Formats: sequence, C-alpha cells, structure tokens
Amino acid sequence: MPPAVEGIQHYFRKVARIMDVGERIETLLATPLREVKVQVSIELDTGEIRTFHGYRIQHDNSRGPMKGGLRYHPSITQEECVTLASLMTWKTAVVNLPYGGAKGGIAVDPTQLSLKEMERLTRKYVDQVQDLIGPTRDIAGPDVNTNPQVMAWMMDQYSRFHGHSPAIVTGKPPELYGTRGRDAAAGRSLLYITREILRDTGLPMRGTRFALQGFGNVGSHTAQLLWQDGGVVIAVSDVYGGVYNPQGLDIPGLFEHVKRTGTVTGFGGGQACSNEDVLASDCDVLIPAALGGVLNRNNAAQVRARLVIEGANGPTEPEADEILEKRGVLVVPDILANAGGVTVSYYEWVQNLQHLSWEEERVNAELEKTMKEAYDRVAQLARSRKVTLRTAAYILAIGRVGKATVLRGI
Ligand code: GLU
Repeated sequence: MPPAVEGIQHYFRKVARIMDVGERIETLLATPLREVKVQVSIELDTGEIRTFHGYRIQHDNSRGPMKGGLRYHPSITQEECVTLASLMTWKTAVVNLPYGGAKGGIAVDPTQLSLKEMERLTRKYVDQVQDLIGPTRDIAGPDVNTNPQVMAWMMDQYSRFHGHSPAIVTGKPPELYGTRGRDAAAGRSLLYITREILRDTGLPMRGTRFALQGFGNVGSHTAQLLWQDGGVVIAVSDVYGGVYNPQGLDIPGLFEHVKRTGTVTGFGGGQACSNEDVLASDCDVLIPAALGGVLNRNNAAQVRARLVIEGANGPTEPEADEILEKRGVLVVPDILANAGGVTVSYYEWVQNLQHLSWEEERVNAELEKTMKEAYDRVAQLARSRKVTLRTAAYILAIGRVGKATVLRGI
C-alpha cells in the first residue's frame, strides 16, 4: 500500500477509537459503498490502441451526494482512490457541505498524451461510469492533472447520455457553467486558514516566511495569495526541482517565468534547490501542495518550519505526524486547509441547479465564512479535547457522518 494511503486510514482508525464508535461502525464507515474499476481503451493519434485502467470509488453518501475529484496519474491505484475517496467524506463533513465523498482516477501519464488523446480518454472514461454517477448521486471535479477543459468534456459526454446536465461535474470553465473563483479556491482556503492560524500563534502575515512544495493549481494560487497578503515566499518547487531565495522570491516574476517555461526551475530570482531542500528550508510555514506522503519518517526531523499547512491530500505520513507533534510543529490537516476547492465546487453545483451565476466577490465571501467557521470548530475542539488539529478535524467529521448514518438507519 502506498504510504499516503496507509496514513489516511491510520488517522481515521485512530480517531474512531478515541471516539469509541465501536468496531462495527468503524468498519461500516471505513468501507466504501462502491468500488468501480473500468477499462479505458482509446485510439492514439498514431492509430495504435492503448488500454488504461480507470477507477471511481464512492465512499459514503449519508450526508448527501458523493463528491470528489478525478485524478490522472501514472501511479494511481484502486487502493489509493479508496482512501482519497474516504478523505473527501471527512473533508466535506469538516466544512459541513451536504455531500459525501468519492474519488476517481485513471492510471495514465498525461504528459505523454496529446490534447485529442486526452479528450478521447476523458470521454471514454465517462462512457464507462455514466450510469453510476449523476448530479444527485456522485459529482466529479478537478484534481491532480485534470483541469476545466477536462471537466467540460465530462459534462458534454455525460449530457449525451442523460440530457443537458451541468451539475454532473464542477470545476468547469466559467464560460461553460463553471463558477467564478473555482480555480483559486483551494489556494484561497489555504490563505484564510493561514490567516487564522497565524493570528492564533501570534505571527503577523507580513514578513512570515513560507516554503511551498508543489506549484500546480493549489501551490501556485497559494503562493500568489500569500504574497499579495504580505507573506514572504522563500522557496517553491515542482516536479522538476525548486528555487530558493532567503530574501523572498519575486512572485510576479516567477509567474512570468513559469508561463514561459512551464516550470519554476531555472528562475533567475533565486538559487536552484531540490524538493527535499524546500521541505527542510529555513521558513516559518511549510506548505506541501503536491502529492501524498512527502513528509515521512526520513525527513520529518529536518522540517524547520513552526507550522505545516497541508495543501496536498495526505502529504504527511503518520510517523512524520508524530515526529512533528513531538517537536512542537503545528500541523493544519488537509481536510480543513485545502477544503476550499470542494467548497467552491459545491457553490458551482448550487448555481447550476438554480440556473444562477454568482459574482466572484460573493463566492469568496461565502468561502471565507465557511473556512472561518470550520477553523473555529476544529480549533475549539482541539483546545477542549487537548488533541492535535488533525485529530480534532476527524472528530468533527466522524461525528457528523456517524450521526447522519445512524439517523438515516443502517
Ligand atoms: N480535488 C479536490 C479535493 O481533493 C476537490 C474536487 C472537487 O471539487 O470535487 O478536495
């Protein structure tokens, strides 16, 4: 089992035992409602046929239709989708959305596909799962290596079977039933949560030094928003490597460079470094915002930040979590910190169902309110129960999901 996968299950089981939910309810909540593995075969531009494996895991629907992203990554497995689906159940519960959790993926390296091949792949995947998903059953959204264009193809393909259905998927382009503010939403939730936690720890935003591992949708928006808020971004990295400047990186310059070259590496405004260097850099706040399992037993002792805020899903392995706790490093968990993505997805779904289109100010204001409320609940629980923020977030989530499950009747 990949480490990130093990970690998420570990956190759930640990808290289920603290809450004394009992073995039967624990098993019920840990087991997905449905696991689907499908064949996704397409013709490549060369005429050659290639077969990929696709997954859709529907974890829990006690609080509402299941919700979660679709990920394109060569190493994705069914097991990983299962735990990422359960993470969505806990995440939607922490921010109190009327949703359950799901996750999908295709084991594919999208950098090896042309745009046309990506489109065929996406449409074929929808063909294979269209009878299992739906706007009131299971709603997809963007995740690692999928974007608004992929969401638009999904909507179009699903609609060929079921009639016009914008609410089947979120994260669509704003020109095609997408909401304003969705692209930056996960980064924005990281900003709001960072403001809250800095206030609680007595650090000002201005001058606080941030290091970000990952410069995709989550990392890049987070870097920009923190910088606009007065934060100093001293290190960033992507799959190719990193760049470091103890005085703070020039973020607009970095964005120009990324637009031109497609990577943060080679940016003239700092010195080259590795992903590992970014994790161990001399900063106040570390934000892992790429894939799972990056903080592990081998490198957790090297983290120099006072705070770790999880932009990625499952970036901290349980052993690393324990090491960080012992060292007094405060960790804000994924299911709280990056929940802005799915929260604004929920706003998109609501707008689609009501045939409305909100202004961006409204989206951001609602998101800020939702994130603050969730943070307050989690922080208060952590204080009263004398537990970490992660344990508190799971207590809140498991409590809400468990309650809904019992009220509905098993
Ligand atoms: N991929 C995002 C997450 O992991 C959310 C996907 C969605 O909006 O459904 O939270």
